[in-house]
Amino acid sequence: MTPVLSVRNLKVEFPTRRGVLTAIDDVSFDIAPGEVLGVVGESGAGKSITGTAVIGLIEPPGRIAGGEVLLRGQRIDNLPPEQMRKIRGKRIGMVFQDPLTSLNPLYRIGYQLVETIRTHSSLSESAARKKALSLLEEVGIPAPDTRIDAYPHQFSGGMRQRVVLALALAAEPELVIADEPTTALDVSVQAQIIALLKRLCAQHGAAVMLITHDMGVIAETADRVAVMYAGRIAEIGPVREVIKAPLHPYTKGLMGSIPSLAHDSDRLVQIPGSMPRLTAIPSGCPFHPRCPRAFVPCPTFRPELQPEQSSQVACWLYHPFPVTAAAL
Ligand code: SF4
Repeated sequence: MTPVLSVRNLKVEFPTRRGVLTAIDDVSFDIAPGEVLGVVGESGAGKSITGTAVIGLIEPPGRIAGGEVLLRGQRIDNLPPEQMRKIRGKRIGMVFQDPLTSLNPLYRIGYQLVETIRTHSSLSESAARKKALSLLEEVGIPAPDTRIDAYPHQFSGGMRQRVVLALALAAEPELVIADEPTTALDVSVQAQIIALLKRLCAQHGAAVMLITHDMGVIAETADRVAVMYAGRIAEIGPVREVIKAPLHPYTKGLMGSIPSLAHDSDRLVQIPGSMPRLTAIPSGCPFHPRCPRAFVPCPTFRPELQPEQSSQVACWLYHPFPVTAAAL
């Protein structure tokens, strides 16, 4: 089956006065129809830039410097801005961290929904309003027939994010990209929004790329997970396997830093150091300065993603390392 989204050897660069910085380096993954792919990593890992590149919104002078993005097999990374604008909203829905990024504070939410629906369909105004009402009902807005004429500021943060979900799904997209959709919300409503996102996308048949730093959200929602580090994928695989038996030392560190009710431990595992800056990505395996298992080839030779069990992992612990390194 053709994947909804295929990202092939994606490279994103930002030219600066000090030289060209590579933010995304050779990232590849697929998302199957109806699948939820979680993309996880610390701040600065390149998760959001990957999502932004997929929807064609990299801010110049940043640019896609290599690779391809395909939507249902059709290349979209090289489309003119006007065509890409039509794909965003119609075939790719978006949910960002701050609902006010997607909602215009000057317009009633009903107007914004109706405009979105009519931009991407041939529905009349009254039919679009009817659809907007049913979407608001579907996302759990109480009394939608009166709330439809309210302004965004008249909603709580959680309710605003529900409206954004309605907007994202208004044109029945094939793919929804949700970038930290609950980070700005109260803890009490985060789980509701995640459950709603998952249920609605399943009902509407949309695949999801869920970008988050929160492994708990991934565990609840995703079918597969891609763990990113320093602009690359360190490990990608089925979410259960990655959580139960992580392969990459960085993924093991991420999992060890999550509190567990099942196991008694005095201290959580901490990954020493921090994510490298774009100006100082280490050579070889970019995780080597922080890795407790680093050995001979790691500082020099870059490991590529290779199949291991039901996942793929970029780590020399799992692959024969270069012969030249063995001689060092
Ligand atoms: Fe650690 Fe080496 Fe594996 Fe990188 S390649 S994660 S440094 S063991």
